[in-house]
Amino acid sequence: MLTDLLQDVSLFRILHQIDRDLAELCRQARCPYCQHSLHYAPYLRKPRGGPEKIPEEYLWRFSLCCGREGCRRRVLPPSCMFMGRRVYWHAVILIVMTLRQARANGIGANRLMEMFSIPRKTIVRWISYFREEFTASREWLQLRGLVDATVDSGNLPGSLVEHFLSYYSSAAGGLVACLKFFATGQAR
Ligand SMILES: [Zn+2]
Repeated sequence: MLTDLLQDVSLFRILHQIDRDLAELCRQARCPYCQHSLHYAPYLRKPRGGPEKIPEEYLWRFSLCCGREGCRRRVLPPSCMFMGRRVYWHAVILIVMTLRQARANGIGANRLMEMFSIPRKTIVRWISYFREEFTASREWLQLRGLVDATVDSGNLPGSLVEHFLSYYSSAAGGLVACLKFFATGQAR
């Protein structure tokens, strides 16, 4: 079940490992501005909605910093765990939205608010973000061409999550693949 995954520390362990690999690839690619070497400069986030007993190391957002005096720019590697500056885990946002947008029995915002203890206005904000901003974003235009044409652009991100779930025998496998797709644009 999708809802159970949010209490599953092993899901977050997998996502953390993927993020670590993505950050390391980014570090090896060196500074995009001056080609100097990058070093790790992670920062602590405390995203909401995940397992209560999550190891503290998973709360750190991988981030890189150029080591050259005069550059010192920050480089933010792609992430499966974090969705920009939002205060909930990316997995939480995808799951809540997928339950909301389910074709047969979509769950109303009030019920989702009770199930996940997320303020109604936050859920409403996610709905409008995906409906208005994300659908028209360059990010989605790029991702759009990489997945099946049957993914309904009017029902994002639920339609995309369902698409990935249909390829995997476990909900965790499908969700991880979908989060990875958002982070890297790799459909498989
Ligand atoms: Zn640099």
